[in-house]
Amino acid sequence: MARDLDRMPTREALAAAARDFHARGWMAGTAGNLSAREPGDRRAFWITASGRPKGRLGPEDLVRVQVADGAVVERLDPEARPSAETAIHRAVYAALPQVGACFHVHTVEACLASWAARGPELPLPPLEMLKGLGIMEEHPEVGLPLFENRADVEALARDVAARLQREPPRLPALLIRRHGLTVWGASPQEAYNRVELLAFILEYLTRGGR
Ligand SMILES: [Zn+2]
Repeated sequence: MARDLDRMPTREALAAAARDFHARGWMAGTAGNLSAREPGDRRAFWITASGRPKGRLGPEDLVRVQVADGAVVERLDPEARPSAETAIHRAVYAALPQVGACFHVHTVEACLASWAARGPELPLPPLEMLKGLGIMEEHPEVGLPLFENRADVEALARDVAARLQREPPRLPALLIRRHGLTVWGASPQEAYNRVELLAFILEYLTRGGR
């Protein structure tokens, strides 16, 4: 990344992150969706438009929607529609007011690691990398909240909302079985860094690491 995402205008930062993730194979085709709030705006966020190729994303491919009901409040391209998975981002922003950016990617390792996992969370190995996710213990025992994938995205978003409200997660992320990874942070750069850390940890796991 040539420039720090947090020094870029919000829509530019999201488009740059999408192109970067596409180049790594984490946003193949039109898959995945990225969102961020304008600093200080608690009521709305920008999210990638539905059906746009992530390797060629530009700032016009972002739509601004309300957290409360998903209604579009701003867009440069009148044909741009919010991502089909906007409801999951709304659930994260509504439950966690400190979140400034939420990134959802479809990595091979996220699919592999979640396919093999059983129970409500995927236990993570006690790697040094967990420090970057705020886990500072010597021998941490933490798990990534795991959700069953659903064809009905609104139903999946309700599952996420209910769990985030019930038990605020220790890790700034969740996993959807055979689907992908959702990671959040205070800003686009923090969310970006955390996607990289979790991608590393999930790759380690799928290569047989414990
Ligand atoms: Zn997805």
